[in-house]
Amino acid sequence: MSSDGDANVSPAAADADGASAEADPVLAVDDLRKRYDDTVALDGVDLAVADGEFVAVVGPSGCGKSTLLRVLSGLEAEFGGRVAVDGTDVRDGGSDAVGMVFQEPRLLDWADLRENVAVGLPADVDPDAPAARELVGDLIETVGLDGFADSHPDELSGGMAQRVALARGLAYDPSVLLLDEPFSALDRLTKADQQDHLLDVWEARGTTVVLVTHDVEEAVYLADRVVVLGGQPGTVEAVVDVDVDRPRERAAPDLVALRREVTAALGR
Ligand code: ADP
Repeated sequence: MSSDGDANVSPAAADADGASAEADPVLAVDDLRKRYDDTVALDGVDLAVADGEFVAVVGPSGCGKSTLLRVLSGLEAEFGGRVAVDGTDVRDGGSDAVGMVFQEPRLLDWADLRENVAVGLPADVDPDAPAARELVGDLIETVGLDGFADSHPDELSGGMAQRVALARGLAYDPSVLLLDEPFSALDRLTKADQQDHLLDVWEARGTTVVLVTHDVEEAVYLADRVVVLGGQPGTVEAVVDVDVDRPRERAAPDLVALRREVTAALGR
């Protein structure tokens, strides 16, 4: 990503003030509280993500990351506080504007790559219509799999399969793309490649991204802002701004220092 102030630079990257992005965030989480019987999973979580921003959420097991993702994607209707996407409550259809990419690519074995990406198209779009075919073709190109449109999942490497999942998540043209540990099943080198690839796609498309990860290095390398969840019940322990120009050097002293800051906030 260029660092010279072009249109793709996250608007909140330079002056984000922690949990609050500028006016009209794409994703607004205010005082989110979620309880399962006797367990309080989330307690007073605030998060505002601006258009085009890349936010990472890190936290130990049990701090409520999955619960947060379930709320954002509309799978949990019962919670306290307010969660809205583009100003619409997730319980009133706001979650329709959220795309998801999971740890496992979850591809259809019997379908080719084109069909797997087309699964992500809105329900009212005919995947065989010319415009839809063109969009799917563009997405396949965007994720660097040009020439593989007719391939099946068993012909793809793990990294390639995860790119198909990314293309499928983008097919809906979501307002917010949620990535749930998308690279944790990949080996170290593949993971690094896929992270850089994700940055390229994010930059090219201006997508608003929320990445949930265990990996502090990944969070600091990729994100504009790292939100540290902790405790049980889960709450925001710290918000670390990564005010470092891209492309970033993984081993650069400023990134290493931020990594330490996030790790300290995690209490590790
Ligand atoms: P994480 O994804 O960070 O590991 P979760 O969101 O899965 O955290 O869980 C947060 C807390 O809520 C944990 O204490 C967990 O045991 C509890 N929890 C999650 N889902 C349920 C459920 N369906 N019923 C009861 N407790 C749950």
